[in-house]
Amino acid sequence: MKQLIKKFTAHPASIGETYFQHLNFTIKGALYLIKVALGLLSHGFFPFLFTNYARDKVSVLEQKLLKRNPKNGAGISNSILDLIGETPMLQLNNFSSRGKSNIFAKCEMFNPTLSIKDRIVLFMLKQYEKDKKLKPGYTIYEASSGNTGSSLAMIAAVLGYKAVITVPAKTSQEKIDTMRAFGANVIICQSGINIDSPEHYTNKAYILSKDDSNSIYFNQYDNHENVNAHYSLTACEIWRQMDGKIDYFIAPASSGGTISGVGKFLKQKNPNIKIVLPDPVGSVFYDYFYGNELKSESYQVEGAGKDKVCRIHDFSVIDQVIRFTDEEAFGAAKRLALTEGVLSGGSSGGALAVAEKLIEALPNNELLRIVVMLPDSGFKYLSKIYKK
Ligand code: PMP
Repeated sequence: MKQLIKKFTAHPASIGETYFQHLNFTIKGALYLIKVALGLLSHGFFPFLFTNYARDKVSVLEQKLLKRNPKNGAGISNSILDLIGETPMLQLNNFSSRGKSNIFAKCEMFNPTLSIKDRIVLFMLKQYEKDKKLKPGYTIYEASSGNTGSSLAMIAAVLGYKAVITVPAKTSQEKIDTMRAFGANVIICQSGINIDSPEHYTNKAYILSKDDSNSIYFNQYDNHENVNAHYSLTACEIWRQMDGKIDYFIAPASSGGTISGVGKFLKQKNPNIKIVLPDPVGSVFYDYFYGNELKSESYQVEGAGKDKVCRIHDFSVIDQVIRFTDEEAFGAAKRLALTEGVLSGGSSGGALAVAEKLIEALPNNELLRIVVMLPDSGFKYLSKIYKK
């Protein structure tokens, strides 16, 4: 104290300054103590004094939703587009008759339009915008079995573009209604016609886009950004969720974007991971992989398989192709709903049916960790798969 008085007397000008410095420290200290006390309260340290409303009122589900969007701590999203991706990985404990299963389901039906395709559409449209190929007021043309079309219709509505989608006649009414609800023009093309016909749904969208100078052809089948989206987003999520502990990855293919992107990433991380393509009977992937003459015929499962191999489809990352029938796929999808409460589409059912075939064929009932991609929701096929 003596020293302090001495200091004040020696330098009268500093008296006020030092006084305010002390005041400042005292206020800061008090604020700190209040902060610590509030922190202890909010963590429930004094339950006998206060009821911890904050903790009790936030349910487990709400906490999970908040976690999905850590950017905006309050859990508010700025756009539906922020909710694409970060889908759950669910261990299936009741699905398999072999008791506790080693199947892990990547649940892509948790995306906003209930399918995996939200991921590639957002990723690719952002790239088209960056490259100045997609400009305000443009129309986006695409051929789709309905999922890419639904994602395109929704994201085009949010970003202010128009969408024209060509689909095969077997497309479920739910998917067609969804695309129209988002304002897309949906053109239904004949199913089962020659792949080279201008009326085939995959050619029609391209032909229409050529007559419209203010447009782009989205082209999920040839554009490598489709693969890149899965390599840089979907695959990283899977790797993180599984902590890298994966023996098999099974994903149905059409453009090949999912299996090529995720397969490449997983093989780079660990070449021992086996990549399996489940293929519907009637699609050409099985014959292509095993070097047979390509034969295609119609089948009912939507989204999986194809009557040709697309340019972006990288078979070098695939170890095995296993076939499934419509009955096996729809049967497995129905069983998934009844045993796990997960409503999935037919291609998910096909992938699960193949997972079971794979498990059956494994020596000594090895308990390997199998990740199965469930690309879309059964809500898109209520009238086709689930109606009694
Ligand atoms: N399942 C469903 C239901 C699909 O819509 C698609 C895409 N058409 C796939 C699987 C295959 O995905 P990809 O195009 O990435 O091979």
